[in-house]
Amino acid sequence: MHCPKCTIEYLKPTKLEDGLPVMGCQKCEGALLPLLYYRDWAERIDLAFDAQTEPDKVLTDSDTKTAISCPKCSRLMTKYLVSCSLSTRLDLCGNCDEAWLDGGEWQLLKSLELGSNLPRVFTEQWQRKARSEKTEIDRVNRLKKIVGEQDSERAIEVKKWLSGNKNKAIILHFLGLSD
Ligand SMILES: [Zn+2]
Ligand SMILES: [Zn+2]
Repeated sequence: MHCPKCTIEYLKPTKLEDGLPVMGCQKCEGALLPLLYYRDWAERIDLAFDAQTEPDKVLTDSDTKTAISCPKCSRLMTKYLVSCSLSTRLDLCGNCDEAWLDGGEWQLLKSLELGSNLPRVFTEQWQRKARSEKTEIDRVNRLKKIVGEQDSERAIEVKKWLSGNKNKAIILHFLGLSD
């Protein structure tokens, strides 16, 4: 099996953690993680596990930007957002139920307290949440570019205050903004 990223490099059996075998690339430090093994391992570890990694030791720029093929079955792997504020995405082959982690991504997941709960990232619910949060961040950034930092913050404040305010309709009417 070749590394999907370095292509000529062979994947060799190694371990992400004690009791968590993967096929790893020595060159890019990426790893192919069978979720079957992962689930078994995650059931056995203790809850303090995630707290062991310090976020500042994490590299995040090794993420593969283009689509990669599964080293096992050669089908294109699907990319999954980890969080709204990170550009890093995880690759998953739904056919083999194996995930590709770029070098440093495992440490990143641990620092986000996802090391013991990785399959959550691959759920539709998680993806929807990350996407809508990302959309909101993009909207705010666009607003900031147009009206500036100060007015944007004011606008966000007002929006927060208005949403859920029981007098919202009356206030909007007063402002001349009701339909
Ligand atoms: Zn590699
Ligand atoms: Zn596959």
